[in-house]
Amino acid sequence: ACTCTQGNMNTPRLNLGHPCFSTKGHGNTGRIHLAVAPGCNISCNYCVRKFDCANESRPGVASKVQTPEEALATVRKVKASGKGDKFVVVGIAGPGEPLANEGTFTTLRGVKRDFPEMILCLSSNGLLLPEKMEELTDIGVSHITITINTLEEQVGAQIYSYVRWKGQTLIGAEAARTLLHNQLSGLEMAAKAGMTVKINTVLMPGINDHGLNDLSVEIKKRGAHLHNIMPVIPQGKLAHIIPPSREQLAVRRSSLSSLLPQMTHCQQCRADAIGVF
Ligand code: SF4
Ligand code: SF4
Repeated sequence: ACTCTQGNMNTPRLNLGHPCFSTKGHGNTGRIHLAVAPGCNISCNYCVRKFDCANESRPGVASKVQTPEEALATVRKVKASGKGDKFVVVGIAGPGEPLANEGTFTTLRGVKRDFPEMILCLSSNGLLLPEKMEELTDIGVSHITITINTLEEQVGAQIYSYVRWKGQTLIGAEAARTLLHNQLSGLEMAAKAGMTVKINTVLMPGINDHGLNDLSVEIKKRGAHLHNIMPVIPQGKLAHIIPPSREQLAVRRSSLSSLLPQMTHCQQCRADAIGVF
C-alpha cells in the first residue's frame, strides 16, 4: 500500500512517521541522536572537527561521544521515560561520519534487537555508502540523509581538502570525483533498496550556488525524495565566506521546489540531540 503522506506519487515513502522527513513541520514525534561516530574519512572546508559534523548538526556545540553500550543505555532510559512512546526514531549523525565508525553498526544492531519498532536513520557524506549498503539494509535502516554539495569536480576541489579512500589520501579533482561517484551510486542504491532518501546541500554563495539546479535534477533522477538546502556556517577554512541571507535561501528553496520537496523547518540539530519536535 502507498504510505505517502504528502499526496504525491513521486514521494511514496516520504515521512513514514519520521520527523525529519516531513516537509510540513516536525509534528509531535521525537528522535534520539546517538553520538557514536567520532571519526571522519573526508575533510570539508566548512567543518570544524572539534564540533559536530556540519552535515547534520548545529555547529558550535560538541556532542559527548558515547560507546555503543552507553548509547543503548540512553535509548533504554528515554524509552522508559514518561514520553518514551513519542520517540520513534533513532538517528546516527556524527559527530563525524557514521559509516566510517564501527560503533554505528554495533549500535544500530543493538537498537533493532531491543526496539524493533523504532525507525533507524543515519546521515552520511556518502563515501562509503555503496560498500555499506548491504549491511545497512540487513540491519533495517530505512531513512538516510546524504550530503551532496556539487556535481562539479573543480567545485568539489574547493569544498573538500581531502578524501581518504582505500588507504590513500586523495586531493583536488580526484578527491571530488571519487566522493561524487560514491555519493550518486549510494543514493541510487539506497532508493532502489526502498529507503527514504534526503539530500542535504550546504549552500556556499560564490562556490556551489550556480550548480544547484543541475544538482537537484540529478539527485531527483537518482531517486532522492527530499532536498534540504542548508546555509553554510562561516567557519574552518571557509570562515571568510558570506552565508546566504534568509531571503536568498528562501528564493533558492522556492525555485527548486518544483523539482523536489524542500525542507524549510530544519534546525540543523546536534549529533546528540534528543527531543520531540
Ligand atoms: Fe566534518 Fe562531517 Fe565533513 Fe566529516 S563529513 S569533514 S565531520 S562536516
Ligand atoms: Fe533527523 Fe538527520 Fe537525525 Fe535522521 S540523522 S534523525 S534525518 S536529524
